[in-house]
Amino acid sequence: MPYGIVAANDPVNMIDPTGMFGDLGSTMGSMALISAVAVIALGVYVLLKDINLKLAVAEAHNMVSSAITQLQAWGVMDQLRYKTWFGKYTVKRKTYVDDVYVKISTALSQHIIFHQTNSNVYAYCYPGPPLEIWLGPLYNSAPIAGANSKAGTIVHELSHEVSNTSDFVYGSAGAKRLATTSPESAINNADNYEYFAEGVQ
Ligand SMILES: [Zn+2]
Repeated sequence: MPYGIVAANDPVNMIDPTGMFGDLGSTMGSMALISAVAVIALGVYVLLKDINLKLAVAEAHNMVSSAITQLQAWGVMDQLRYKTWFGKYTVKRKTYVDDVYVKISTALSQHIIFHQTNSNVYAYCYPGPPLEIWLGPLYNSAPIAGANSKAGTIVHELSHEVSNTSDFVYGSAGAKRLATTSPESAINNADNYEYFAEGVQ
């Protein structure tokens, strides 16, 4: 057989999208291989996204549980962190914040519908039921845990969903300022719930 020419009907073993082995002719085979690689790549991509989402929801649960624990323990450091993100303490405002976290915690154990959006955002939602969150490219590139994370984004969105919080300001500097200048606004601002829960100092 001359170089450069491949017999047209050499059987080629390959994995098809259903994971079964099959014999394909080499011409068909190379085309099918490309599409199979694409299907597998897409499958891995979807699977990783799914695993990431599960991890993020689990971490959001951890964050919110930890926030609730701190608010209940109410040690010196807990009080300081509360003041950093929610401003001057009053019984009424503290009770309100406690209640928002309990509602977020409840929401996290319910069914949440997640969508992808191409809008250049972390995420968005429409306050009130159903629990439905659209995740954007900024969310996708965020870490799972910590400051400005996937988990924190979910906490942020759920505060809109369950307690109709606003976005008076975004970012930690603005959220801290809001806590000082207007605690009443801070306890109604989504990012303040996110940063307290993320453990940001
Ligand atoms: Zn928001």
